[in-house]
Amino acid sequence: MRYVLDHDLHNHSFISPCSRDDRQTKQAIFAYALTNGYRLVALTDHGWDTKVDDKGAPGWGGNDMERLRSNLPLPQAKRCRFLMGCEIDMNRHGVFGLSAEERERFDFIIASVSHLNLTHFTIDPAQVGSDAASRKAYYEKRLHTLLDMDDLPFYKMGLAHFTTGNICNAELHRCISLFSDAELAAVFEKVKARGMGVELNFVPRAANAEDLDIILRPHRIAKQVGCKFYFGGDAHHPERFGERRAEFETIVDLLDLKESDKWEFIPRMIAENAQ
Ligand SMILES: [Zn+2]
Ligand SMILES: [Zn+2]
Repeated sequence: MRYVLDHDLHNHSFISPCSRDDRQTKQAIFAYALTNGYRLVALTDHGWDTKVDDKGAPGWGGNDMERLRSNLPLPQAKRCRFLMGCEIDMNRHGVFGLSAEERERFDFIIASVSHLNLTHFTIDPAQVGSDAASRKAYYEKRLHTLLDMDDLPFYKMGLAHFTTGNICNAELHRCISLFSDAELAAVFEKVKARGMGVELNFVPRAANAEDLDIILRPHRIAKQVGCKFYFGGDAHHPERFGERRAEFETIVDLLDLKESDKWEFIPRMIAENAQ
């Protein structure tokens, strides 16, 4: 059975510093979900938990967890559940920005180790260059640092946008190409073992055939090793809502995703809502 698109687990409200769009409200996100017939949607604003020892590298301008929670309560319906989530970075010292206490309080957590555009927060330009080789090595190290953490609730965590341009704005495709199949498999074997979901949201139309193949390869390897997937549009503005569903459908076709490739967290959350 073909993968059924019944969710979008990555959405930003105006509270995210990179949105700052008054139209990007919880009501607008929920309306987008209902319009598309989704049964599960998540709010995942950027934040940094100020209760964590950041070792001198805090992020997101003090957008702390209380600020994220100012969006509560979220609209809910029997046919669509709205999860309270967050998108959390690991800083340049390898600190994940969510305390144990706060990990309990969110339904869903997106882990982003790929925001290498956030100079001084996630990356020290004196240590890591902007060229493809430096960025590949640093990104790979960060992935393993995250996946080797023993105290994270991986069962409700997603791995954000594996091939985002933020990894290496200068030469993304070259950077991704520098990963061998074995290195990618080593990362995704750990993702699978942890039970994390792999996020899908690359934009198929933005790439020529060669570049698209480069973007598809990590995701194909993830599928081969048995990882499970969720979709997360990462919308920051309402204009993106109209385009996302069709892009997701294209990704389903490109990766030949079946319902059995869906991250188990999704049907579990939907089933709880139906009770
Ligand atoms: Zn992100
Ligand atoms: Zn995001």
